[in-house]
Amino acid sequence: MIFNIHAGHNPDGKIACGAVGLIKESTESRRVKDEVIRLLKAEGHTIYDCTCENGISQGDVLSRIVKKCNSHKADLDISVHFNSGRNDYEGDISTGGVEIWVYSKSSKAIGGAKRICHKVSALGLRNRGVKVSAELYFLKKSAAPAMLIECCFVDDADDVKQYNYKLMAKAIAEGILNKKISTKTALPEASISSDKKRNLKLK
Ligand SMILES: [Zn+2]
Repeated sequence: MIFNIHAGHNPDGKIACGAVGLIKESTESRRVKDEVIRLLKAEGHTIYDCTCENGISQGDVLSRIVKKCNSHKADLDISVHFNSGRNDYEGDISTGGVEIWVYSKSSKAIGGAKRICHKVSALGLRNRGVKVSAELYFLKKSAAPAMLIECCFVDDADDVKQYNYKLMAKAIAEGILNKKISTKTALPEASISSDKKRNLKLK
Protein backbone atom coordinates (compact mmCIF):
# COMPACT_ATOMS: atom_id res chain seq x y z
CA MET A 1 0.00 0.00 0.00
CA ILE A 2 0.97 3.64 -0.39
CA PHE A 3 0.78 6.10 2.48
CA ASN A 4 1.38 9.79 3.02
CA ILE A 5 2.31 10.93 6.50
CA HIS A 6 3.36 14.24 8.00
CA ALA A 7 3.91 16.05 11.26
CA GLY A 8 1.23 18.73 11.46
CA HIS A 9 3.31 21.86 12.09
CA ASN A 10 6.62 23.61 11.46
CA PRO A 11 9.66 22.44 13.48
CA ASP A 12 10.33 23.78 16.96
CA GLY A 13 11.55 27.37 17.03
CA LYS A 14 9.77 28.45 13.86
CA ILE A 15 6.44 30.20 13.44
CA ALA A 16 3.37 27.90 13.55
CA CYS A 17 5.22 25.09 15.35
CA GLY A 18 2.16 23.87 17.24
CA ALA A 19 1.31 23.26 20.87
CA VAL A 20 3.83 23.49 23.70
CA GLY A 21 3.36 22.15 27.20
CA LEU A 22 5.43 19.63 29.12
CA ILE A 23 6.43 18.33 25.70
CA LYS A 24 6.39 20.00 22.29
CA GLU A 25 3.97 19.01 19.55
CA SER A 26 6.47 19.89 16.79
CA THR A 27 9.17 17.60 18.17
CA GLU A 28 7.03 14.66 19.30
CA SER A 29 4.94 14.53 16.14
CA ARG A 30 8.19 14.25 14.15
CA ARG A 31 9.41 11.44 16.38
CA VAL A 32 6.16 9.56 15.98
CA LYS A 33 5.90 10.02 12.19
CA ASP A 34 9.55 9.00 11.67
CA GLU A 35 8.94 5.80 13.63
CA VAL A 36 5.68 5.08 11.76
CA ILE A 37 7.61 5.51 8.50
CA ARG A 38 10.25 3.05 9.70
CA LEU A 39 7.65 0.47 10.73
CA LEU A 40 5.56 0.70 7.57
CA LYS A 41 8.64 0.50 5.36
CA ALA A 42 9.81 -2.57 7.28
CA GLU A 43 6.40 -4.10 6.50
CA GLY A 44 7.02 -3.53 2.80
CA HIS A 45 4.81 -0.47 2.22
CA THR A 46 5.57 2.76 0.43
CA ILE A 47 5.33 5.83 2.60
CA TYR A 48 5.96 9.47 1.71
CA ASP A 49 6.93 12.06 4.30
CA CYS A 50 4.90 15.17 3.45
CA THR A 51 6.05 17.20 6.47
CA CYS A 52 6.64 20.91 5.92
CA GLU A 53 9.79 22.24 7.60
CA ASN A 54 9.71 25.91 6.61
CA GLY A 55 6.20 27.28 6.19
CA ILE A 56 5.79 31.03 6.63
CA SER A 57 2.46 30.70 8.48
CA GLN A 58 0.15 27.92 9.67
CA GLY A 59 -1.92 28.34 6.51
CA ASP A 60 1.20 28.06 4.41
CA VAL A 61 2.32 24.95 6.33
CA LEU A 62 -1.04 23.32 5.65
CA SER A 63 -1.20 24.17 1.97
CA ARG A 64 2.36 22.91 1.41
CA ILE A 65 1.55 19.67 3.23
CA VAL A 66 -1.58 19.06 1.19
CA LYS A 67 0.23 19.87 -2.05
CA LYS A 68 2.83 17.21 -1.21
CA CYS A 69 0.14 14.70 -0.21
CA ASN A 70 -1.84 15.18 -3.39
CA SER A 71 1.27 14.77 -5.57
CA HIS A 72 1.19 11.03 -4.73
CA LYS A 73 -1.64 8.65 -5.32
CA ALA A 74 -1.98 7.23 -1.81
CA ASP A 75 -4.32 4.83 -0.05
CA LEU A 76 -4.30 6.93 3.11
CA ASP A 77 -3.06 10.34 4.31
CA ILE A 78 -1.99 10.53 7.94
CA SER A 79 -1.47 13.73 9.90
CA VAL A 80 0.27 13.48 13.28
CA HIS A 81 -0.59 16.06 15.92
CA PHE A 82 -0.63 16.44 19.67
CA ASN A 83 -3.48 18.03 21.55
CA SER A 84 -3.51 20.75 24.19
CA GLY A 85 -5.95 22.46 26.52
CA ARG A 86 -5.89 20.23 29.60
CA ASN A 87 -3.62 22.60 31.52
CA ASP A 88 -2.85 19.82 34.02
CA TYR A 89 0.82 20.28 34.79
CA GLU A 90 0.74 18.44 38.12
CA GLY A 91 -1.13 15.31 37.11
CA ASP A 92 -4.51 14.26 38.48
CA ILE A 93 -4.44 10.55 37.53
CA SER A 94 -6.70 11.23 34.57
CA THR A 95 -5.35 11.38 31.03
CA GLY A 96 -6.68 13.59 28.25
CA GLY A 97 -5.97 10.87 25.75
CA VAL A 98 -6.14 10.17 22.06
CA GLU A 99 -8.62 11.33 19.42
CA ILE A 100 -8.66 11.02 15.64
CA TRP A 101 -10.44 13.29 13.17
CA VAL A 102 -11.83 12.15 9.84
CA TYR A 103 -13.72 14.11 7.17
CA SER A 104 -17.05 12.30 7.31
CA LYS A 105 -18.88 9.35 8.79
CA SER A 106 -18.35 7.49 5.53
CA SER A 107 -14.59 8.18 5.36
CA LYS A 108 -12.56 5.13 4.38
CA ALA A 109 -10.11 6.12 7.11
CA ILE A 110 -12.62 5.41 9.88
CA GLY A 111 -11.87 1.71 10.45
CA GLY A 112 -8.14 2.31 10.87
CA ALA A 113 -8.82 5.35 13.05
CA LYS A 114 -10.97 3.30 15.42
CA ARG A 115 -8.31 0.60 15.66
CA ILE A 116 -5.61 3.17 16.42
CA CYS A 117 -7.70 4.78 19.17
CA HIS A 118 -8.28 1.36 20.67
CA LYS A 119 -4.59 0.45 20.57
CA VAL A 120 -3.47 3.78 21.99
CA SER A 121 -5.96 3.45 24.82
CA ALA A 122 -4.29 0.14 25.67
CA LEU A 123 -1.15 2.21 26.38
CA GLY A 124 -3.00 3.89 29.24
CA LEU A 125 -4.35 6.92 27.37
CA ARG A 126 -8.06 7.67 27.37
CA ASN A 127 -9.88 6.84 24.16
CA ARG A 128 -11.66 10.05 23.13
CA GLY A 129 -12.74 8.34 19.97
CA VAL A 130 -13.02 9.09 16.28
CA LYS A 131 -14.53 12.48 15.48
CA VAL A 132 -15.87 13.98 12.28
CA SER A 133 -15.05 17.42 10.92
CA ALA A 134 -15.65 18.80 7.46
CA GLU A 135 -13.87 22.02 8.47
CA LEU A 136 -10.26 20.96 8.91
CA TYR A 137 -8.22 22.07 5.88
CA PHE A 138 -6.12 18.91 5.67
CA LEU A 139 -9.16 16.59 5.79
CA LYS A 140 -11.06 18.78 3.34
CA LYS A 141 -8.28 19.05 0.76
CA SER A 142 -6.64 15.62 0.86
CA ALA A 143 -7.37 13.58 -2.24
CA ALA A 144 -6.90 10.26 -0.40
CA PRO A 145 -8.90 9.14 2.65
CA ALA A 146 -7.36 11.04 5.54
CA MET A 147 -7.01 10.92 9.30
CA LEU A 148 -5.69 13.54 11.70
CA ILE A 149 -4.35 11.91 14.85
CA GLU A 150 -4.17 13.87 18.11
CA CYS A 151 -1.87 11.38 19.87
CA CYS A 152 -2.30 12.75 23.40
CA PHE A 153 -2.04 16.06 25.30
CA VAL A 154 1.19 18.03 25.61
CA ASP A 155 -0.10 19.88 28.67
CA ASP A 156 -1.29 16.97 30.80
CA ALA A 157 1.27 15.36 33.11
CA ASP A 158 -0.71 12.10 33.07
CA ASP A 159 -0.57 11.89 29.28
CA VAL A 160 3.13 12.70 29.20
CA LYS A 161 3.80 9.98 31.77
CA GLN A 162 2.04 7.34 29.67
CA TYR A 163 3.37 8.56 26.32
CA ASN A 164 6.23 6.81 24.55
CA TYR A 165 6.84 7.70 20.91
CA LYS A 166 7.81 4.17 19.85
CA LEU A 167 4.73 2.59 21.40
CA MET A 168 2.56 5.37 19.96
CA ALA A 169 4.00 4.74 16.50
CA LYS A 170 3.54 0.99 16.82
CA ALA A 171 -0.11 1.49 17.78
CA ILE A 172 -0.61 3.74 14.75
CA ALA A 173 1.15 1.38 12.33
CA GLU A 174 -0.71 -1.67 13.64
CA GLY A 175 -4.03 0.16 13.53
CA ILE A 176 -3.45 1.26 9.93
CA LEU A 177 -2.36 -2.18 8.74
CA ASN A 178 -4.81 -4.07 10.94
CA LYS A 179 -2.09 -6.51 11.95
CA LYS A 180 0.40 -7.13 14.73
CA ILE A 181 3.90 -5.94 13.95
CA SER A 182 6.57 -8.28 15.26
CA THR A 183 8.37 -6.99 18.32
CA LYS A 184 11.63 -7.59 16.46
CA THR A 185 10.76 -4.65 14.20
CA ALA A 186 8.98 -2.61 16.82
CA LEU A 187 10.85 -3.30 20.06
CA PRO A 188 11.09 0.01 21.87
CA GLU A 189 14.67 0.92 22.86
CA ALA A 190 13.54 2.38 26.11
CA SER A 191 10.80 -0.08 27.00
CA ILE A 192 7.95 0.92 29.26
CA SER A 193 9.27 2.04 32.62
CA SER A 194 8.17 0.15 35.71
CA ASP A 195 6.17 3.22 36.63
CA LYS A 196 4.16 2.94 33.45
CA LYS A 197 3.68 -0.79 33.89
CA ARG A 198 2.18 -0.15 37.28
CA ASN A 199 -0.13 2.47 35.82
CA LEU A 200 -1.17 0.17 33.01
CA LYS A 201 -2.13 -2.47 35.54
CA LEU A 202 -4.30 0.01 37.39
CA LYS A 203 -6.40 0.74 34.32
ZN1 LIG B 1 -1.53 20.38 15.92
